[in-house]
Amino acid sequence: MPRFTPKAAKAPREPPAVFPAPDHDHDRCSTDAMATAEAVCEERGQRLTAIRRKVLATLLASHKPLGAYEIIDRLAPKGPRPAPITAYRALEFLRENGLVHRIESRNAFIACVHNHAAGALVVFLICENCGAVGEASSADVTTTLTSAARAAGFVPKSPVIEITGVCVHCRST
Ligand SMILES: [Zn+2]
Ligand SMILES: [Zn+2]
Ligand SMILES: [Zn+2]
Repeated sequence: MPRFTPKAAKAPREPPAVFPAPDHDHDRCSTDAMATAEAVCEERGQRLTAIRRKVLATLLASHKPLGAYEIIDRLAPKGPRPAPITAYRALEFLRENGLVHRIESRNAFIACVHNHAAGALVVFLICENCGAVGEASSADVTTTLTSAARAAGFVPKSPVIEITGVCVHCRST
């Protein structure tokens, strides 16, 4: 009798790719990210209310940053739009909890699926071709920049680096 090795039903989760392939399983990708967000909120005794969840889901729908008004438009494609202040408050909550980042140079927001420490240095790689934004982190860069800042007697608050260029998928087409 042939023996079948059952396929690993639950393969260990790989860390999310910086630039997921265009044909990646995005449903799973966004479902996993939402589950991570729920876990983060629960751990902190915070509530992921309906509007917070909707705003996050809107950002998780793609790997591209969205402006505040684009988010509001997508929250209610047909019906009446929520009051901007409601969406802004939800965004603020998500940012404070590290679930969303602001890309200063684009004046836009992107969901963070990395669950890194609040003060960790964030490096955004922004593709000028497709608009995708990847989040890379490097302990070496963090150490170098932190010591450079300290040497200047400077206390960095939100260490963010934005680098524009061309992503791996756009380069290969
Ligand atoms: Zn995805
Ligand atoms: Zn992040
Ligand atoms: Zn690209």
